[in-house]
Amino acid sequence: MKKIDILGVMVDHVTMDEALERAISCIKQEGVGTVFTPNSEIIMVAYQDAEFCSILNTADLIIADGIGVVYASRILKAPLPERVAGFDLSCRLLEKAAEEGYSVYFFGGKPGVAELAVQKLEEQYPTLRVCGTQDGYFDAEKEKRIIADIQEKKPDILFVCLGAPKQEKWIAQHKDELSAGLVLGVGGSLDVWAGTVERAPLKYQKAGLEWFYRLMKQPSRFIRMLALPKFGLTVLFKGKRVKGGR
Ligand code: UDP
Repeated sequence: MKKIDILGVMVDHVTMDEALERAISCIKQEGVGTVFTPNSEIIMVAYQDAEFCSILNTADLIIADGIGVVYASRILKAPLPERVAGFDLSCRLLEKAAEEGYSVYFFGGKPGVAELAVQKLEEQYPTLRVCGTQDGYFDAEKEKRIIADIQEKKPDILFVCLGAPKQEKWIAQHKDELSAGLVLGVGGSLDVWAGTVERAPLKYQKAGLEWFYRLMKQPSRFIRMLALPKFGLTVLFKGKRVKGGR
């Protein structure tokens, strides 16, 4: 399995179809499979936090959630085949789950958001088997109940939507207690399924400008997004180029 080193984060060299295939094979295998979906901002966090970087690298599959990660791979002369957005992979997985009967569990978002998302997803996929939901705001006591509920429901697929880096840290800490087939950290996906946050129109996605659309819609992300130019410069000056690359 080829991996590309982007500032220490080992991103899998996969297309969307290959990522889906790998995720499905994790469900079928023994043990808990994990998928992380870093974008440039998250890779910058990992670059400055070695412990978080090693947490990311424990995943069975690491996909390039943002176009910035794909550009970085080109700068490093080890081009990734395409962007594999966590939200898009999750939608493909839901489609597969509805077809094959895999059970799904949604954890994260503000109270009520997961339920709203399930309502909409069940309209779209009438055969989808949702075995549980929990919001993403908890103290230690509630966290124990959440873990016990996941253990009882044994989902084939668990979507953890707590935002990064919280969700990756939570998954790494609790992975072995979870009795799930596949666990994905997919940030704001529940908000999009629920319709509380709008995904960028396709033309923005195709032009590699989804980040710009999100910035227009949520100007409060501006500070977070300052990580993007910093990421580009760090890759240019500190990234390890693949020797003999084209
Ligand atoms: N969230 C949560 N618990 C927390 C903090 C955040 O469930 O303690 C949720 C929040 O409600 C939102 C998601 O995590 O639904 C984060 O969304 P964002 O778009 O910021 O995540 P990203 O995809 O950028 O990591």
